[in-house]
Amino acid sequence: MNYKTDTNFRKEKLIKLLNIVNIYENEIIQALYDDFKKPAFEAVLTETSYVISELKDTIKNLKKWAKPKKVFPSILNFPSTDYIYKEPYGKVLIIAPWNYPFQLALCPLISAVSAGNQVVLKPSELTPKTSKIIAKIIDAVFDKSHVEVIEGGIEVAQKLLAQRWDYIFFTGSVAVGKIVAKAAAENLTPVTLELGGKNPCIIDKTANLKLAAKRIVWGKFINAGQTCIAPDYILIQKDVKSLFISYLKEEITKAYGSNPSLSPDYARIINTKNWQRLVNMMEHEKVIFGGQTVIENYYIAPTLIEDSSLDSLVMCEEIFGPILPILTYEIDAEIDAILSRFEKPLALYVFTKNHTFSKNIIQKYSFGGGCINDTLVHFSNKRLPFGGVGHSGIGAYHGSLSFDLFSHKKSIVKKANWLDLQIRYAPYKNKLTTIKKILKWL
Ligand code: NAD
Repeated sequence: MNYKTDTNFRKEKLIKLLNIVNIYENEIIQALYDDFKKPAFEAVLTETSYVISELKDTIKNLKKWAKPKKVFPSILNFPSTDYIYKEPYGKVLIIAPWNYPFQLALCPLISAVSAGNQVVLKPSELTPKTSKIIAKIIDAVFDKSHVEVIEGGIEVAQKLLAQRWDYIFFTGSVAVGKIVAKAAAENLTPVTLELGGKNPCIIDKTANLKLAAKRIVWGKFINAGQTCIAPDYILIQKDVKSLFISYLKEEITKAYGSNPSLSPDYARIINTKNWQRLVNMMEHEKVIFGGQTVIENYYIAPTLIEDSSLDSLVMCEEIFGPILPILTYEIDAEIDAILSRFEKPLALYVFTKNHTFSKNIIQKYSFGGGCINDTLVHFSNKRLPFGGVGHSGIGAYHGSLSFDLFSHKKSIVKKANWLDLQIRYAPYKNKLTTIKKILKWL
């Protein structure tokens, strides 16, 4: 098959994919709106333009990334020339989630294709309109024996997982991530697991509170809070809490108006199950802003809550919706007491002007990635690896790292024949002292 060895073939396919994504961009935006009222602006910013940029970058660099890389040889093998060859794994399964259903399906697909793999993609059943258009686009570009989209729900995913793959790339919840890891272990299949977690957003009193509120409102309520790296809860120094809350309220109103249900810029919750889960979370909480819900169109207003107990529902699982608990701390030890209750999160944000404070937080805690004085934007730099650690995931991708992720790195030593040092060969008699000296010297 030419896609395995021929980088020109792969490049041509990706150029065709780029053209078709451009042609269908409006239909994709409409599908995302139909699925959960994703605003067109957010669809362009976080889905279509992101995929288009990933395609352009991959098309531009594919040949460079695919080239065998010459590395400095070991003196022990003198004379030799040493290389790393990048070889496609073979058959790759990609299972995608619903929250950024176009981008999180297409980006790993683009990378797996660029690295020369055969790909089967299962998009999310919860965004049927987007999944359908993904299938249409992929069908128009690729032969099914090269790249195929298989639509369906849990049963389909499980049937696919029961097959043997050479690589599995999964994005979704921690619970399903464990199912995927178990299935992969049956055949020792390598996996990337892009999962979630409870992402803290720590604010000390030196922070620019007004700007912090603006950036947090954006990062929390984009996609109605259904973002894997959205701030999950705020942990703010007690003295500045009420001022910060007033800024949060101001920023929410500025962004979505006094009745966000009428805002064209505010998405809806994906389905009844998630809507009910979020409503249950708010039930016994002290809502200080928002809190309105409408089951008919899965609306939940941007909501602020305070004084949540650490044992409450809202603090026990990933929120993944537009509810923002605000907790406080007085001394740094309290930050530690709260953060250490949770598994390693996918993201962490710290807002401060105190360099030592942010440095300590970043060094002390393990998390996938994050920002100082902003939210979400680390996702947008292709030179930064994106992924979790511990329960928030295994492996990282984006940019050239994605090409590497879908490639087996094959090490090759090309030995010259003009010299063959005798020392390594048996019999070893009288060679021990010499070899010790050489190895110590190296
Ligand atoms: P999910 O785990 O429910 O579903 C993801 C995919 O797995 C879907 O395609 C679904 O059909 C399939 N699936 C569901 N149950 C399955 C099962 N029992 N066996 C096999 N396959 C199954 O996740 P979701 O609700 O689509 O997405 C939300 C979660 O994903 C959140 O936890 C969020 O943090 C996480 N997420 C992570 C990232 C990231 O990049 N790290 C990105 C987006 C979402």
